[in-house]
Amino acid sequence: MQYLTCDICKKMITEPLRGKNYYTLKHRHMCRKCKLTIERELQDKAEMENKPYDFLEKKEEFWLTVDKKCSK
Ligand SMILES: [Zn+2]
Repeated sequence: MQYLTCDICKKMITEPLRGKNYYTLKHRHMCRKCKLTIERELQDKAEMENKPYDFLEKKEEFWLTVDKKCSK
């Protein structure tokens, strides 16, 4: 069976379908759950700072957060 491992939670993603149950950012793979968790964190942060959440604007921040979580 084809599978991938999420770089953040290290869980196996069985039958990976890009954009559906996993996402690739630069060379990292992440499962849907981890992507949503990070998005949520950034959204909450933006809300606390009273700023609108703009994914494109937050792309670099998103990547840095992913990178940080992967290297833990
Ligand atoms: Zn994950």
